[in-house]
Amino acid sequence: MSEKITLDGGKVLAILRNTVRVEREQFVVSVAEDEGPFAVLVGIILSQNTNDKNAIEALRRLRERIGLTPEAIAKANVEVLEEAIRPAGLYKQKAHTIIALARELLARGGESYLVEAPVEELRDFLSSIRGIGPKTIDVFLASVRGVPVFAVDTHAFRIAKRWGLVRTRNYREASEALLRFFGPENALEAHRLLIAFGRSYCKAKNPRCTECPLAAYCPSARPE
Ligand code: SF4
Repeated sequence: MSEKITLDGGKVLAILRNTVRVEREQFVVSVAEDEGPFAVLVGIILSQNTNDKNAIEALRRLRERIGLTPEAIAKANVEVLEEAIRPAGLYKQKAHTIIALARELLARGGESYLVEAPVEELRDFLSSIRGIGPKTIDVFLASVRGVPVFAVDTHAFRIAKRWGLVRTRNYREASEALLRFFGPENALEAHRLLIAFGRSYCKAKNPRCTECPLAAYCPSARPE
């Protein structure tokens, strides 16, 4: 495939806004927002390699059984924590990451570090914790810190490839391509719209090309 989608990012954004709904309760970040930045970050970690529904359930159980503060997590019994987050999958690995994050945050003054640290310092800090990668960091920076970065989840990656915007599996290249396409001011909204669009139209298996509002402009549109 050599072509790219034949619309600019602004027009695609307008079509996405008119086509898909971003339901707050379907995004773990939105569900966790009222609980503070640490809860949001934990929610993003829980959503790795699973869907938001499972992550939301794991977050709810974690809130009920332990709490969503670094103080509560840092002193939690590991087995209890693992059992609480089991619905999110990879629960042993994620428990390790969440506990390490809580302890390292407490060593830096607590949860407030997540909102007060300079962005690049925070990026370095988060990167140093095993189990926290660039996508998790970008979702957090865009959602909580308002940083104009494009977080590329599995839906955004798949759609960007189908649109011909990216040709590799390189995360940073995909993130920059989508940021250029949609514009930094639209990055967070476009990120969420792409997830909703990927869930409803541009699915991994059997994309609904015949009903897709972008089919006339998409180089990967499957014929009827
Ligand atoms: S036409 Fe098909 S491949 Fe292209 S964006 Fe729509 S659903 Fe995805």
